[in-house]
Amino acid sequence: MSEIHRFSIEHNHGFLRGTCNGILLVNFYDVEYKPVSGDHGFRMPFKALILKIDGQTANLFFASDNKRFQTLKLQNTQEAQKLNQVWNGLKPSPDNNQGWRSERIAYSLHSQQEF
Ligand SMILES: [Zn+2]
Repeated sequence: MSEIHRFSIEHNHGFLRGTCNGILLVNFYDVEYKPVSGDHGFRMPFKALILKIDGQTANLFFASDNKRFQTLKLQNTQEAQKLNQVWNGLKPSPDNNQGWRSERIAYSLHSQQEF
């Protein structure tokens, strides 16, 4: 459960704003970005984030309000798929964590009302 998965990533700053590079560390408890240089590092509880893979890009959203948190680029699509697998593997299964699941259902109902 506590194994840490490491991915080399490029942090995208948005259109024409450049990038920085570093390592994304993912485990059951949190998601951490350690840039080689610069001050864009972050550390967030795993459960606070939602991952959506698009090609070799990883989009991170806040689980609480679905707002975009970060856009990260993996080295290639294989790495992106690996991150996706790791991420899904770390999520508690519905059978062993009912509390977490109800939280998510409540959230999706809420967002349907809002949008
Ligand atoms: Zn950056």
